[in-house]
Amino acid sequence: DEAKLKRAEELLDPSPILPRGVLELCIWASQYYHHPVGEVLAAAIPSLLRKGHASIAEIEQFFLTKEGKDLGENSLRNAPRQKQVIDLFCRTSHGLSRKDLGQVSITAIQSLMEKKLLIKKSIKLQPFSFDKVYESDFSLSTEQQTAINLVGKTGVYLLQGVTGSGKTEVYLRLIEKRLRAGKQSLLLVPEIGLTPQALQRFQAAFKVNITVLHSALSDKERLMGWQNAASGHAGVIIGTRSSIFTPMANPGLIIVDEEHDSSFKQHQGFRYSARDLAVLRGKIENIPVLLGSATPSLESLHNVKLDKYSHLHLTQRPAGVTKEKYSIINLKHERLVNGFSDRLMEIINDNLKKKGQVLIFLNRRGFSPVLLCAECKWIAVCSQCDARLTFHLSKSIMQCHHCGIETLQPDSCPECQNKELLKIGLGTERIEEHLKTIFPQTRIIRIDKDSTRKKDSFTRLLQEIEDGEPAILIGTQMLAKGHHFQNVTLSVLVDIDSSFYSTDFRAEEQLGQIILQVGGRSGRNVREGSVAIQTHFPTQPLLNTLISDGYEAFAQKLLDDRRDNGLPPFKYQAVLRAESTSSSLALNFLDKAANGGEISPLVSIYGPFPSIMEKRAGLFRALLILSSSSRKHLHKELKNRIEYTERLQSGKKVRWSVDVDPIDLF
Ligand code: ADP
Ligand code: ZN
Ligand code: ZN
Repeated sequence: DEAKLKRAEELLDPSPILPRGVLELCIWASQYYHHPVGEVLAAAIPSLLRKGHASIAEIEQFFLTKEGKDLGENSLRNAPRQKQVIDLFCRTSHGLSRKDLGQVSITAIQSLMEKKLLIKKSIKLQPFSFDKVYESDFSLSTEQQTAINLVGKTGVYLLQGVTGSGKTEVYLRLIEKRLRAGKQSLLLVPEIGLTPQALQRFQAAFKVNITVLHSALSDKERLMGWQNAASGHAGVIIGTRSSIFTPMANPGLIIVDEEHDSSFKQHQGFRYSARDLAVLRGKIENIPVLLGSATPSLESLHNVKLDKYSHLHLTQRPAGVTKEKYSIINLKHERLVNGFSDRLMEIINDNLKKKGQVLIFLNRRGFSPVLLCAECKWIAVCSQCDARLTFHLSKSIMQCHHCGIETLQPDSCPECQNKELLKIGLGTERIEEHLKTIFPQTRIIRIDKDSTRKKDSFTRLLQEIEDGEPAILIGTQMLAKGHHFQNVTLSVLVDIDSSFYSTDFRAEEQLGQIILQVGGRSGRNVREGSVAIQTHFPTQPLLNTLISDGYEAFAQKLLDDRRDNGLPPFKYQAVLRAESTSSSLALNFLDKAANGGEISPLVSIYGPFPSIMEKRAGLFRALLILSSSSRKHLHKELKNRIEYTERLQSGKKVRWSVDVDPIDLF
């Protein structure tokens, strides 16, 4: 009935918002991750676009009118400021925005407009133009040059280069080549904290629009960034995980820096891997993809072995910079005070005396992870999770690191009223307190989620480190990842032992990566760097392989182990997770999901099991693991399971989700 049809009010977009390539990527991702396509698209499209904002950006620019162009040399004699503006325009062939005009006074512009010499127009964002060539004051190493030459017009490349070997330099050259050809590059970084540093380096190199995309942008900023990329205005786009969906008018290259980093995998909702999608996007767009890391993931190394990726190596640091030296401190015969052995204290002291900075890594924030009653052995636990509460000294609270709940520090044991409560174990805050008393004259800078909560505090602390004064830097992975510190001469890992008896089969891989990442922070400069590792397992074979034979030998051992045990990357995995208000509801639900209908003989189903931390934020969690050496069969089976599961009545009482290529089984 025509009368019931409503009139279209406005044509929002004259062409589809998403270019074909990105749409294809979304649809593929929806199928691969078994996630509703609507939600995938919602993740790919900035929220303001979803609310109807135009996808094509217009900016206001000033142009010379005919009269303005014809103006003789001698005119505007009495208005030098206006003359200056006219001169600026005469030097370029295109319009200039208010921003381009920089310091020019607004009154000069207004006067020129009144004289009809200048006019203001709204114009569409234009693709970038690039004229200045990137200059560096050194020549590339042979390895760098070889790597650059090997990157072709398509294909996936794994650039494995020890920290400080000049990977970023390789990125810069490859991007420059694209810029000259009018093509855009997308650089994915694992953490939002790494974007300012990358931005700085790229801005110094290229006079071109560089757009940054990450989760802390306002909706408006995100839309603007998206428009810069989509219109071709941005020459380089630097972003975290979700920017893999950013449209580019003229794509030329995708780089995934620190490709092994687990932050590229989304941990909830639409659980995609931005690294894996980058590889796919490269195929779709027919452009090369470069995965860079000092410590590549076993998956990527395996893909090299299968000849799916080409392997590029940077084994040397630039001349004059030596590789850091690793040493193990055997804790067996050492006295520990607040987690520090005497031997370690000596080494730290030596480095401080030599005016170096010392970096201490511990991936646990707070003061101590355990609060224990000395009398009855009561331990403070979270009421909502199967987890202990961490004591935070600065706020005098107990906090759960899994659900965020905070309670006041009890002044006596709730079970036996004993006043003596022991703080057991080590957190970054405790290290800070301890070292403050031992090195009262030394600057101590702690970097973790707690010390960087305030806006800009992270940048400020990093700046303080870069000033290079002798200092002790204490931090979690926030400090260990990617940053370039010029004056760190010693990196320390105080507590790594829990990785050796973790239930997560990826724990050893991650330990190897973190040791080399932390180690790589030291010895950036011509000064020699060293790394000290405290452990009760000084002869642990993997640890020793890593230190004496290097990452590749270490990775090979792990890969052999994974093959023998039928684990990824030799087998593919998917997980069905369920959570509910009772343990049995979640388990029963997955039990039904596991046992309904016929199961492919090529797929093994394990479980259901309660998750390692079964209760979290008040909900009980369970999981079911599907595993197969055939991806095709795994996906077919998973699809069947999901369809069957969707019909289950008990599904109404649980929240369930699918995780393809899970990186943890919690
Ligand atoms: P990575 O990204 O592998 O950690 P970078 O690209 O940041 O390494 O390089 C580390 C340092 O070495 C930087 O200060 C960089 O400017 C410098 N550098 C890179 N390549 C060369 C080279 N060929 N000669 C001299 N210095 C270089
Ligand atoms: Zn007690
Ligand atoms: Zn909790």
